[in-house]
Amino acid sequence: MNEKILIIEDEEDLVKGLKINLLDEGYKVDYSLDGKEGLSKALSEKPDLILLDIMLPGMNGLEICKELRRKNMDIPILMLTAKGEEIDKVIGLEMGADDYISKPFSIRELLARIKAHLRREKRDQKDIPEKIELGHVVLDFSHLKIIKKNKEVYLTFMEAEILKYLISKKGKIVTRNNLLDNVWGYERFPTTRTIDNHILKLRKKIEEDPNHPKHILTVYGGGYRFIRD
Ligand code: CA
Repeated sequence: MNEKILIIEDEEDLVKGLKINLLDEGYKVDYSLDGKEGLSKALSEKPDLILLDIMLPGMNGLEICKELRRKNMDIPILMLTAKGEEIDKVIGLEMGADDYISKPFSIRELLARIKAHLRREKRDQKDIPEKIELGHVVLDFSHLKIIKKNKEVYLTFMEAEILKYLISKKGKIVTRNNLLDNVWGYERFPTTRTIDNHILKLRKKIEEDPNHPKHILTVYGGGYRFIRD
């Protein structure tokens, strides 16, 4: 599947050049010349990576970045900074940008960085083995089932997606909002109770004692955390 890159940048010539090069590399590309519109595109179109200018009409790149992170959108954001925006780079990273590149930049360098970020993202999210042993149970994602004490228990698609997402975070805290945004997607809005119900069902399926879970832990006030052993 082709990854989608959203460019939020108001210099039309730069956008044109970027678009040609990115399309050439096989990416899907969308762009916005305005900050506010860019933000709403980022939220509705779920790009895989965002190239984000700082000085923009409507809303500046730093605010956009902050807003996206506040909404738990955790895709890579690469800031495009102009000369004289040295301080903004630091603030940008504080606001949650993953990287920045100073204008004028070479397109080759930009493409290399985009590739690196997307690769890392993929490795984190998709490199979950098809079968995982968890103490007394075996998770079999390719068949959506769990083998528990020689009995087979089936997982729903959503349960498998939640488990994979939790596992991909390797013990880090996953908030309910992270799950809403990354498993359900930005345009569907189940309640946090829906998530808790899914977690309860998952615990019944994979935990030896669902009342004292060892793998899917609740972090009070935070969310959930997956522990493998
Ligand atoms: Ca600009």
